[in-house]
Amino acid sequence: MELFQEVTALKGIGPKKAQALEKLKIRTIGDLLAFFPRDYEDRRSFCVIKDLKQDKPAFIRATVKLVVKDPFRKGRKQILRLLVSDDSGQMEVLFFNARYLADTFKVGKQFDFFGKPSVNYGKMQMIHPDFSVSEKAQMQGILPVYPLTAGISQKEMRTWQRMALESVDGIEEYLPEDLVRRNRLCDLRYAVANVHFPKERQPLLQGKYRLIFDELLALQTGLLASRQKSTRGQKGLIFSKDADVKPYIHSLAYDLTEAQKSVVGEILKDLESGMIMNRLVQGDVGSGKTVVAEIALYKAVRSGFQGAMMAPTELLAKQHFAGLSKNFAAHGIKVGMLTGSMTAREKREVLEALSTGEIEILVGTHAIIQPDVSFKNLGLVITDEQHRFGVKQRNALSEKGNNPHVLVMTATPIPRTLAVILYGDLDVSAIDELPPGRQRIITRAVDETRRHTCYDFVEKELEKGRQAYVVAPLIDESEVLDVKSAEELYQELKERFPGQEVALLHGAMKQQQKDLIMTQFYENKIQLLVSTVVIEVGINVPNATMMVIENAERFGLAQLHQLRGRVGRGSHQSYCMLITKESSEVAKQRAQIMVDSQDGFYIAEQDLALRGPGEIFGTRQHGVPDLLIADLAKHAKILIEVKKEADLIIDEDPYLLSEKYVGLKKRIINLFGDDFSLKL
Ligand code: ADP
Ligand code: MG
Repeated sequence: MELFQEVTALKGIGPKKAQALEKLKIRTIGDLLAFFPRDYEDRRSFCVIKDLKQDKPAFIRATVKLVVKDPFRKGRKQILRLLVSDDSGQMEVLFFNARYLADTFKVGKQFDFFGKPSVNYGKMQMIHPDFSVSEKAQMQGILPVYPLTAGISQKEMRTWQRMALESVDGIEEYLPEDLVRRNRLCDLRYAVANVHFPKERQPLLQGKYRLIFDELLALQTGLLASRQKSTRGQKGLIFSKDADVKPYIHSLAYDLTEAQKSVVGEILKDLESGMIMNRLVQGDVGSGKTVVAEIALYKAVRSGFQGAMMAPTELLAKQHFAGLSKNFAAHGIKVGMLTGSMTAREKREVLEALSTGEIEILVGTHAIIQPDVSFKNLGLVITDEQHRFGVKQRNALSEKGNNPHVLVMTATPIPRTLAVILYGDLDVSAIDELPPGRQRIITRAVDETRRHTCYDFVEKELEKGRQAYVVAPLIDESEVLDVKSAEELYQELKERFPGQEVALLHGAMKQQQKDLIMTQFYENKIQLLVSTVVIEVGINVPNATMMVIENAERFGLAQLHQLRGRVGRGSHQSYCMLITKESSEVAKQRAQIMVDSQDGFYIAEQDLALRGPGEIFGTRQHGVPDLLIADLAKHAKILIEVKKEADLIIDEDPYLLSEKYVGLKKRIINLFGDDFSLKL
């Protein structure tokens, strides 16, 4: 039998079962074998009845002492009740609506039971355990537990998997021998067999490692191959070792944190190395990424090049421009700005000064990647808040120069694992420390019933002259979801705070209008801002001390953390209130993580563990397909090994043309499917 054959080729799978399997995306024998257990039941040895623990699944060998059939009563569940015993004690076994089993269990006969014990009025019970006649002993060993849907039982799935394993050919090694050896991978067929039906723990672990490794390797190699950056490993501009950045660092009003120092060190090393820098700097909100960028820009200018920094919004660009102009003026370095809202004349002047080299550092929005913008000698490009830009825009900025160095900055902390996947083509640095003296933002989680006390608190803050953000997840009234829509909330709060200026900001507004409102908030002409999640990242309004988030359960933790980072930016004590409607365990857990921690990396990791990577980091947008066995949240260590191999492969054979990688290439195409255009 071959892997590509349909499942109906197996005995016992007819059209109906095939349809049920289809729901699990299993069509072929290969799909079936790639459908892995979610767990295992250890039935290698028997437990004795007196050692049973409530809720802890156990395997029992016992003899039937008594069979009690409840008399048939209309509308009542019929219960089949057994009393069974071994040398240590006795327990009850219950089956509901299963009178047909009555004849199976005969007093004096021995059976094996596997199930979860429960205690009822002091009696140990098993309800609907798995069972078989002891003399046949077909249930022993480590049994796989598959994540199933309706219409298929564990027993069936196990039988089919066993049959498929026994009859299939063509689970052959497809990775190069040296790679397999280097990574001490076990044989592929052995791996598949042992992941389904392990005899021992060790082969299971080996097999699992192999399959996870394979899947991650296909993923990582596929992503690298599809993103082939022209600059990978290319020679780049050499920034002079003599261009000392100390004068700039000494002119700052504060000392750099250790984390900033080490990231600056990594950047300077790249810039002097002779290879093109492609570096991502991750740093929590407020960790001080801007000054790191400034130092890199200073290095560029002192090495005789121009630098450019692109921000995702006009307001952010303006803030950067104001800060940089001030800081660089003391060093006689001219900073220019280019944004969409400038007049044609203003633009012309900037473009002129840029092409002559009079402007040494340009700050701006997307406007700086327009075709009419040309530099004299651009040596370094920086994009702030990288997650707001696509790879395309990043590259468009690079093309303004002759292969300039690239630095991207993001405040969305990405666990290291995911950074490797999402930014496989970048080196990653982390500023994992906040400047000293940062105040802690007091965070509280409250439920709906205490909403009003929350707004009483807002009132007090506003009376003190502070400002507040209120965030709601959706813009339109939505009865279905029953969430506070921004519009509704805005009306409500306008009435609630008649003495204050209340405004609404939402995603459907024109950019210009959004900028206007944000500017007014910045200037304290607006005191309370109701908004959907579009509050601009990186925005700095030190007078805002309150962040209220409605329906907090609808936001990801990483997002909540981002939003909270909008306050606590000045000298006043700041607060974040999470209003949660849902009272589930997970909702509580999530809220508690926010209350307890202010560490973006920690929060991101928790978020990853709770929700999985797809939802949080838009891994799909980055072209990451669904995985069958690997888990980006759990298999970080393996991923690091995989990354090394993937780098080697792509360096050796960027388009996977050699015979050696035929199998891997097939595997990659299989994994990414049609929605991925591999340039292979
Ligand atoms: P982000 O990483 O969110 O972009 P910023 O670069 O805007 O953070 O920095 C936030 C604030 O911290 C700024 O006001 C900046 O001047 C200040 N800052 C940066 N580094 C330090 C430091 N080492 N010590 C004290 N304050 C710092
Ligand atoms: Mg910033």
